[in-house]
Amino acid sequence: MFDEGGWNKEDGGEALSQALLRPRHRPAQHCTLAPRGSLQKQRRRLLATLQRLEASSCTDPPQSPGPLSGDSESESDSVGRAGRKQPRKQRQGLKPRAASSPGVAPGAPSGSGAPHPGPEAGPAGRRRRKDSAAEAPGDSAPAPSKEQPSRELGAAAGRPVPLLTRKQWRNKQKNKRRQKNKFKAGAGQDVGQGTSALPASELSGVLRARMEERLQSARFRYINEQLYTSSSQEAAQLFQRDPAAFAIYHRGFARQVGRWPENPVHRIIQYLRGRPASLVVADFGCGDCKIATSVRNKVHSFDLVALSPRVTVCDMAKVPLADESVDVTVFCLALMGTNLQEILEEANRVLRPGGTLKVAEVASRFGDIRAFVSAVTQLGFQIVSKDLGNPFFYMFDFSKTGQPRAGGSLPGLALRPCLYKKR
Ligand code: SAH
Repeated sequence: MFDEGGWNKEDGGEALSQALLRPRHRPAQHCTLAPRGSLQKQRRRLLATLQRLEASSCTDPPQSPGPLSGDSESESDSVGRAGRKQPRKQRQGLKPRAASSPGVAPGAPSGSGAPHPGPEAGPAGRRRRKDSAAEAPGDSAPAPSKEQPSRELGAAAGRPVPLLTRKQWRNKQKNKRRQKNKFKAGAGQDVGQGTSALPASELSGVLRARMEERLQSARFRYINEQLYTSSSQEAAQLFQRDPAAFAIYHRGFARQVGRWPENPVHRIIQYLRGRPASLVVADFGCGDCKIATSVRNKVHSFDLVALSPRVTVCDMAKVPLADESVDVTVFCLALMGTNLQEILEEANRVLRPGGTLKVAEVASRFGDIRAFVSAVTQLGFQIVSKDLGNPFFYMFDFSKTGQPRAGGSLPGLALRPCLYKKR
């Protein structure tokens, strides 16, 4: 019945009066019917009351000087809702109680301006009194200065413009604050924004921290890209030149994997815990040695830089282990260099026949899984199982069947580099 626009400052008066007028005719028709029984008596009484109310709302000045303290909760609700959607009472064809007749509850004498006593003196009535108290002068003093002009405008135009109760005004302010914060949160992702509320001393600290974080992220992305797009020898040189880069890389790596619902290294740990502790393991690209610290097996941990004393620093294309000396070789998110063939041949060398090669790799790196498996097979392995169920990483188990077959390059081994986007 009421458009939202009907409650705008400009056209609020017309829409309101329209709404008030419409239901007024209906009761008149009903009154011409001969009332029968007590139900009809009640209806007649109700209709008479409605008519009185309507009359009062038309004759009352548009903005009743009656204090908001007289607002009943239901009234403030109907006025408040009106700005957003059609009030239920109006949809039912009943007259909305406009601000012009505050505090008038159905059945109460029109224009009394007092909270409705009697039946509504229950919880609703008590709530109304609480609202009234809240509208005490001190409390309502800071009430919306922006509302004032709209009331005056409406009043000047002779239209009834709804006043806001304290509760409504508070909600309005809350919504405004929310909108503002939403904007700030979005903008705050940029350095220097969303910090305007901070004192200058804190601001410089926050900005510096953000800049450092961005710098670290950029360095992580750079190092990560180097590891995927250069040979393992070049990667080794990179970290020799700049050992600090390794710490940065690992912080970034941990952050990325931390976002995944599951870390594949935990699957590998589970697997090893279910196998005899006597199996010797070689962890190629061990990082912070999660495997070595989580299982009872003898674990050889290899990486380019030592994050822990357990690490043997070396290029995994050339590990200091005797031929056929280990039972399980692990590459957990560590098939990084461009010389994967060399790296997997090294794994084959150190594995005893029938030994297990476990690979966990980022799912998006695989273009053609079959080509990858076929290439690994060329290197003296056979596939035992593959698990492609996780959207983030795939897992493969191979067993060593023999020596790598002599031959040319294996394009199926070329996995896509795993590059992280700038956030
Ligand atoms: N496997 C660990 C760490 C994975 S991050 C885990 O899942 O938690 C990949 C690791 O491989 C890094 O620590 C990186 O330094 C290492 N790495 C990459 N290329 C290497 C190489 N050529 N030799 C040794 N380690 C290498």
